[in-house]
Amino acid sequence: MTIYDLHCHSTASDGVLSPRELVHRANEKGVHVLALTDHDELSGQAEAATVAQEAGLRLIHGVEISVTWGNVTLHVVGLNVDPQDPVLLNGLARNRGGRSERARRIGEDLARLGIAGAFEGASALAENKELISRTHFARFLIERGIAKNMKSVFKKYLVKGKPGYVTHEWASLNDALTWIHAAGGVAVLAHPGRYQIGREKMRLLLSEFKHLGGAGIEVVTGSHTQDQVPLYADLAVEFDLMASIGSDFHAPGEGGRELGRLTALPERCRPIWQAWN
Ligand code: AMP
Ligand code: MN
Ligand code: MN
Ligand code: MN
Repeated sequence: MTIYDLHCHSTASDGVLSPRELVHRANEKGVHVLALTDHDELSGQAEAATVAQEAGLRLIHGVEISVTWGNVTLHVVGLNVDPQDPVLLNGLARNRGGRSERARRIGEDLARLGIAGAFEGASALAENKELISRTHFARFLIERGIAKNMKSVFKKYLVKGKPGYVTHEWASLNDALTWIHAAGGVAVLAHPGRYQIGREKMRLLLSEFKHLGGAGIEVVTGSHTQDQVPLYADLAVEFDLMASIGSDFHAPGEGGRELGRLTALPERCRPIWQAWN
């Protein structure tokens, strides 16, 4: 059986392993086909591809694009993209552009609460200074002993309505899909179970996504509970979308799912790799 893991992060975004270390770890965990999907960033792809070739594992070039849809932030994964495509590269550069200013404002918001030096702290933890994410702030808050772990930090801070949350306008859904398609890739709605939208709005999202040429949704992901898997498998079938599988691994022992440690896609799903195999 071929083990797929089509969603994970390196130090090019908010992961803690370099692309090299990440591919080696995936190989050790028995992954055969890996997609590196850094947030709004492709700079880890070349190193990952070289190491994958050495290790005898198949690398699929990927990216996870931050999207604003109405008042909701969504993540769209592009898989099997050309990492050198200028349309995609330009779009991602534009999406990264606002992150530094946003990070400064997150820092100011936390400072008002008496937590000093958060911007500097998060920035120091981010290897890619264009890619300071809430994950880096979360790690800073944990280091400072202000929160116990990732789960608790994202309950009290950095989310809508809590200190350290700053609204931000990311790419539109249409832009994200246009960039992915320009680069020859397929678009996958990441971890649908994580969005705080009701059933009706989820259906609206899926029909709009499908209408724009979206190819699939993540059915098995580190972000879904076992109960959510059949729910999104049904929606994939209903909307004629393919199904993807990915750990969303960021760091060893940080609370997320380990590379390659996922249950199989339900039988009724059409796996996303049919799009490129
Ligand atoms: P950003 O792109 O800067 O808004 O950061 C988003 C990242 O924060 C996600 O990709 C996750 O890595 C992390 N994150 C957001 N919410 C949570 C959560 N509830 N638990 C753990 N990590 C989270
Ligand atoms: Mn992340
Ligand atoms: Mn995500
Ligand atoms: Mn992710």
